[in-house]
Amino acid sequence: MNNLPPLPRGSADPHSSMPPRPKKLSEIPSFLNKLLGGFFSRFGYILKIVWQTGPWILFLMMFISIFQGVTPVIGSIISKEIINELQILVRYGAQNIDFFSSSVFFLIVFLFVYRFLHQLVSTISTALNRIAGEKVVSQVKLQIMHKTKDIDLASFDMPEFYEKLENANREAGNRPIAILSQTFTIISKIIELISYIAVLATAPGLWWAVPVIIAVSVPSAIINFIYRRKNFHYMRRKSKDRRQMTYYSGVSVNKDVVKEVKMFDLGDVFIDEYKNVFERYYSGLKGLIVTENVWHTAVTVVSSLTNLLFYVLIARLVFRGEILIGDYTLFTGAVGSIATAVASLVSTSAVIYEGTLFIDNLMSFMNHESTIKPRLENPITPARNTSHTIEMLGVSFRYPGSDRDVLKNINLTFRPGETVVLVGLNGAGKTTLIKLLTRLYDPTEGYILLDGRDLRDYDVKELYRLYGIIFQDFGKYAVSVSDNIRFGDIHKKFDAEEIKAAAIQSNADAYIEDLPDGYDTPLMRVFEPDGTELSGGQWQKLAIARAFYSDSDILILDEPTAALDPMAEQEIFNQFDRLRADKTTIFVSHRLSSATVASLIVVLEGGEVIEKGTHRELMDMGGRYCELFTTQAKRYIEGGEKN
Ligand code: ADP
Repeated sequence: MNNLPPLPRGSADPHSSMPPRPKKLSEIPSFLNKLLGGFFSRFGYILKIVWQTGPWILFLMMFISIFQGVTPVIGSIISKEIINELQILVRYGAQNIDFFSSSVFFLIVFLFVYRFLHQLVSTISTALNRIAGEKVVSQVKLQIMHKTKDIDLASFDMPEFYEKLENANREAGNRPIAILSQTFTIISKIIELISYIAVLATAPGLWWAVPVIIAVSVPSAIINFIYRRKNFHYMRRKSKDRRQMTYYSGVSVNKDVVKEVKMFDLGDVFIDEYKNVFERYYSGLKGLIVTENVWHTAVTVVSSLTNLLFYVLIARLVFRGEILIGDYTLFTGAVGSIATAVASLVSTSAVIYEGTLFIDNLMSFMNHESTIKPRLENPITPARNTSHTIEMLGVSFRYPGSDRDVLKNINLTFRPGETVVLVGLNGAGKTTLIKLLTRLYDPTEGYILLDGRDLRDYDVKELYRLYGIIFQDFGKYAVSVSDNIRFGDIHKKFDAEEIKAAAIQSNADAYIEDLPDGYDTPLMRVFEPDGTELSGGQWQKLAIARAFYSDSDILILDEPTAALDPMAEQEIFNQFDRLRADKTTIFVSHRLSSATVASLIVVLEGGEVIEKGTHRELMDMGGRYCELFTTQAKRYIEGGEKN
């Protein structure tokens, strides 16, 4: 119905087992890492990504976090000094003192210089986070794109892989920098915490305040960690729901299906499906959020009561004359700051912990192993600009995750310079055979040899360069007309004349010349408002021009002419036959009229080769080919093609 990716199956939780206890001191870091579900490995991975983006980000963040850790306590101490000085001056007669030469005046100026600096560093920090964030996002996206480039086609058939790719793309971008900036927030909070603890320790008779405040924060820490983990696992479990929501919200705006959605009135079907899935996803999430916050409220009541107790005790110290009013503001400020610093330490660590769990998605995608790789340590490079022999020996194939052989015991030889036509009904296995020949997949059984060597012995990139291939569902790119043709051989030096020649051969030149900017016309209305939309037949001619443009040794055309009429198709086949006399060309077609020129016709049915030979031989044989050919020929004669 459309070309959106398939929906995923669920995935397993890799963080559930307990690691064995460490026996030696040196085993402790790896024990802790395992205990925290690989926290340090993930964190190290984030540091690596940010370091690769720019080491300056780390250094600047480190400086800012230390500065922001030290400054709050300095501010509190200056304020305390101002209030104490004022109290003393008032008590001993401030009227006789020149205000502008008093310590209070200098302290106030100092306070505002300090505040300005503090604000300045905060501003720099915000700007840094945004700039670094953008850079890290693009770094991660590039890493994902590079990785995707090397991933084999078989992986794209696996829902688990799609899930990994989708998760990596969604989560990886903003998370690394967010996690890192939160980590530096923790560093500054620790510095702040230590300095306020030192301040509060000087309060007469309140040495026990610090352990009490910290102890009260422990339950909150535990709740936070539990719920961050629950949240992560919920998101993972509901990954299918979220994919479904993306699918349903995307399908009705997908350009390929929008016509059907309108004509068949499918809009409401997708809206209803979306609502159903959302309800299911949302109800669980709502439960999680509500219970977490009920717990937090209970914990907040306890910590507020503790704070109240200390405020009262400190105020009593002022009453007893043991401390001044400035000290009161400093100590009560310290109580509040310690409590908030501990809470922020806890919640930030929990968020970091949760964030690193999501980074797992990226790591697992980056570690995805491609199966299509050379089996030799020093893979061989295929000879170029020559004719090749391709042999298939006992080849059978089954798609990943399926238990049905779509190709069965295929034995075929394509000799150098041959023009081969693969024929067969839909689903016979023609495209699959092409995918195996080009090593987009490896056979489940049997061997494919190129010039006598197993395909798996060749360097994959070099092997791919040997082929020029236009698939049934060829690419339509939102770039210019000439780029669309040039993509047929991107390694060739750009030559406008050659591009035009290819377009003339595929009969595309005629309509290209009529486009507003000729070969420079941007195609598709994705980015350019003046982008041109082509008809199905025009796109096909462009795709065929791509094949003419390619100097590949082996050219494969998988029904690229389906949108053209039989005459035009025949003309194109003849054109290829003439221009590529000494090179192998493989056509897939279900129109048998074009097969007549082939030096070898292979008839596939149900994944098996049932007949092979030239047109004459197969007609003389009077088998399946003869039957199909005669039926089609009769249709043409009776008028109108109905295949
Ligand atoms: P043809 O090109 O002759 O129409 P294909 O090679 O495309 O046939 O398909 C052969 C069979 O393989 C069909 O039954 C099809 O359903 C199945 N098939 C094709 N692609 C996939 C895939 N990616 N995963 C699983 N099965 C597939």
